[in-house]
Amino acid sequence: MKRIKYNRKFKLTTLLTSLVSASVILTIIILLGASYQSEKRSLTNTYLSLNGSKSEKISRSVDSLFKSMRLSLVETTNYLAKNSELSDEDIQEQLELLRNNSRYFNSLSWIDETGLIRNIAPLSVGLKGEKVTGITRDVLDLKVPTLTKPYIAPSGRLIVLMSEPLFDSNGNYRGIIGGSIYLQERNVLNEILGNDIIGEDGSYYYVVGPGGKLLFHPYTNRIGEDVIANPMVRKVIQGQSGVQRVTNTQGISMLAAYNHIPETGWGVIQQTPVSYINELLKKHTKQLMLYALSPFLFLLFLSVLLARKLAKPFHYLADLVNQLASGEQVLTLEKNSHWNREADLLTKSVLIAIDSVQKNNTKLTEEAMTDPLTELPNIRKFQEVLERFKNEEKSFSLVLIDIDHFKAVNDNFGHKAGDEVLKYMAKMVSSLIRDSDVFFRYGGEEFVLLLPDINSSEAYEIAERIRIKVSKRNTPIGEPITISLGIADYPQATRSLNDLFRFADKALYKSKNEGRNRTTIWFIGS
Ligand code: GH3
Ligand code: MG
Ligand code: MG
Repeated sequence: MKRIKYNRKFKLTTLLTSLVSASVILTIIILLGASYQSEKRSLTNTYLSLNGSKSEKISRSVDSLFKSMRLSLVETTNYLAKNSELSDEDIQEQLELLRNNSRYFNSLSWIDETGLIRNIAPLSVGLKGEKVTGITRDVLDLKVPTLTKPYIAPSGRLIVLMSEPLFDSNGNYRGIIGGSIYLQERNVLNEILGNDIIGEDGSYYYVVGPGGKLLFHPYTNRIGEDVIANPMVRKVIQGQSGVQRVTNTQGISMLAAYNHIPETGWGVIQQTPVSYINELLKKHTKQLMLYALSPFLFLLFLSVLLARKLAKPFHYLADLVNQLASGEQVLTLEKNSHWNREADLLTKSVLIAIDSVQKNNTKLTEEAMTDPLTELPNIRKFQEVLERFKNEEKSFSLVLIDIDHFKAVNDNFGHKAGDEVLKYMAKMVSSLIRDSDVFFRYGGEEFVLLLPDINSSEAYEIAERIRIKVSKRNTPIGEPITISLGIADYPQATRSLNDLFRFADKALYKSKNEGRNRTTIWFIGS
């Protein structure tokens, strides 16, 4: 069976934070996407309809402007027809009057039926007395009211010409009264249309004439340019009106509205660059993101907090187990409950487990340090206590005790009886010492007594008292036993624990040598 290895370990905080981040970011993306789409649709519709109403308004003003212009031209023509006796000077005056009063036309002229420019106002144009050709000539020959497409006039200017045929009272054709609009100079069109030409949003409008030529445009250098390639221009000069998104002749995407101007046959187009809408959308999206950001950060903060709180009991337990592993005593009293159920259960179970392991350990340690026969602390405990006394800078006496001729007890009464004697010894001596004194079974029939705060001569008193009592009392074998003792004191005898024991042993050896049942103190030089 293959086993999957999970080598990477993620922190709870990282996991939770990532989860919250991912879900919030996804939500924001979906939100932004949906809002972007709906906002885009709404903005597009708004701008199309705004442009629609604006182009309609412009179309209406241009239409009524040209109606008035036509009317003024008709009135002048009628006046001239009725007063055929007027001199050239009088006619000149009429034309000047019309030009100055209405300011509709840049120039006004009477071109007679032969094509001769009889009058022109203002005189400064300088064409008086010349013969017309080209489009002006064609208009003259038509003998009907006309409005031309833009063309280059004899003066060299780009113009449109509005004309009325002139008939005298006898019905003879006397040429035309023509009003010119100089398209590339200050004229009636740009006076009416020319305010705030390009809006803050990049919106602007332009007017196209027949053939798709620009008659009015905020960029005056483009006036006269052919924009028939723009599909909307083709529609508007064919008499249609509407709204649509187009790419203009310069390759810029526009939200446009187009309106036909009936009086002139021209068209007006009002448009807003799509880039402006995109700009608005960008701003809107940014704002939305800002709004979404603060609750997101709050959520993130909360999740980090939560994750930390969730992780805390696990860190705590890991610390406890590490402490246990390194052999330290672990305090399991602090059984504070946790709000997370799993963490709470785990904490409680681990604490119970640690507790029982520790109790077991203590029991084992105690067992390891106790002599099973006499229940006295054994040689291991002796080493430990000895070290402790030394560390605590205690002064004390060490008394080594050995039962005399114990082999004989075993031999005469049996090993079991020997054991009973050993147990008796343990109880007997224990009953004679202070609480602070410690009595050990060192091994076999040898015992050690540690007497804190007792010097060798005081220890001698105690040892002797014990020895005499032992020698007088009956043991389980029905008769007393005797013991030999050796004393060395710390730190007077030595500061080395090994030497201390060795010296006590020497003293004990001396007691044995000198006939047993006696106590000897070790002295320097003894
Ligand atoms: P001495 O006066 O020189 O100390 O003589 P001794 O016989 O006491 O000394 P020795 O060291 O020769 O003998 C000690 C005896 O103690 C030998 C051993 O059988 C006996 N012994 C050691 N441990 C135990 C024990 O746990 N139970 C019993 N019954 N006897 C033990
Ligand atoms: Mg012995
Ligand atoms: Mg002995």
